[in-house]
Amino acid sequence: MLTNRTISFENLLVEVIDKNLCNRCGGCVSFCSANGISALKIGKDGYPEYLDKDKCMEGGICYLICPKTVELEEEINDKYNWKYPIGQWQDIFSARSTDAVIKEAATDGGVVTSLLLYMLENHIVDGAIVSQKTDCGGRMPMVAKNRAELLKAAGSFWSEAEHLDKLGDAYTSCFPVIKVIKEFAEKNMKKLALVGTPCQIKAIRKMQALEIVPAHLVVFTIGLFCMQCFTLEDLVKQNFAKKHNIKIEDVEKVNIKDKLILHMKSGLKIHIPLEEVEEIAREACLACPDFANDYADISAGGLGSEDGYTSVIVRNSAGKQVYSEALYKGYVENSGASIIAKKDRDHKLINIIEDFAIKKRIRYEQHPHVAVER
Ligand SMILES: Cc1cc2nc3c(=O)[nH]c(=O)nc-3n(C[C@H](O)[C@H](O)[C@H](O)COP(=O)(O)OP(=O)(O)OC[C@H]3O[C@@H](n4cnc5c(N)ncnc54)[C@H](O)[C@@H]3O)c2cc1C
Ligand code: SF4
Ligand code: SF4
Repeated sequence: MLTNRTISFENLLVEVIDKNLCNRCGGCVSFCSANGISALKIGKDGYPEYLDKDKCMEGGICYLICPKTVELEEEINDKYNWKYPIGQWQDIFSARSTDAVIKEAATDGGVVTSLLLYMLENHIVDGAIVSQKTDCGGRMPMVAKNRAELLKAAGSFWSEAEHLDKLGDAYTSCFPVIKVIKEFAEKNMKKLALVGTPCQIKAIRKMQALEIVPAHLVVFTIGLFCMQCFTLEDLVKQNFAKKHNIKIEDVEKVNIKDKLILHMKSGLKIHIPLEEVEEIAREACLACPDFANDYADISAGGLGSEDGYTSVIVRNSAGKQVYSEALYKGYVENSGASIIAKKDRDHKLINIIEDFAIKKRIRYEQHPHVAVER
């Protein structure tokens, strides 16, 4: 835990950003801008930097909530009943959307988009923070309020988005909380779902542990599995790109299971072993322990499910309620063959996910910067 030294963004610069451990989740900037401090911004390179150093209050909150520091780890482990190797869970399913358009647009089974649609249409949330594809193959955070907007965000592209930053920019800035609440009431947007990688969800959980704005708006989290993040540009620089003659503009879709699968516009599917992809993994990802998004309400990934299905981990009662209702109302359907209950500990799907989670944790433990020095 934190000692009584003064902590500020300077510490994040030295201990996280300068060591290439920053995963660009935007959590620190989100807190800073949402609370009217506005000392930080996301720079052109996607990394946080000072906007106005004189405004920094040196309260150290940005440091506490950064997923790359060990602060608050015990608190969130207790709160989310964390267990080795994939965190707490109640049920694990292979499932898919029942909506043909969503299935077509989605990365795997479209479960993430369909669960968000269920929550929006049934007024469980007012908006969903998702990540929209840009023309140049990147991602841009957005708040989706309906099916059409969700569809713009469906599917995965392998680059990270400065996702949490959207919370600060979109909803709050230099206003006291009471005014912000009024603003949300006017916009009718008080409850948000958030989709994110494990680093993004961890930052939100740390913010929620401190009960700070803007994390209170996030009432539901869907966490994506994540072994590592990279851009297609990183991929094409490698030898295997030359070998397969990959051009970014020829890639239609990307998904990942036990291999990276590139779906080319020609119809060709290129399978790349994950070990090859690991060669281009960012330092930040190599120093990241969480594969299965252990602190989310529901986690989702492609690993372990057949094509066209999403592997879904329902973790807690909030997750169970949303998932069961979405199932009951016909937004998603389970794969008959793979419905499992918690008692079925030896199920293939659980074993595959646990194996990957263990592999990622070992990689993390072997990394020289496993814990940021305090
Ligand atoms: C960077 C990254 C790495 C991943 N690594 C793995 C892996 O190693 N193994 C595995 O099994 N699965 C991995 N996944 C998850 C997998 O690709 C699918 O997102 C998941 O199976 C859900 O599929 P779906 O069809 O249900 O989702 P969809 O219905 O297609 O919805 C996907 C949702 O994810 C959001 N999203 C997409 N990219 C990002 C991003 N970069 N940051 C935040 N939100 C985003 C979209 O906005 C959309 O709302 C990864 C996803 C990402 C983004
Ligand atoms: S909170 Fe996120 S963006 Fe900020 S330093 Fe930490 S990892 Fe980087
Ligand atoms: S591997 Fe970890 S740090 Fe990298 S994008 Fe995934 S969750 Fe974030």
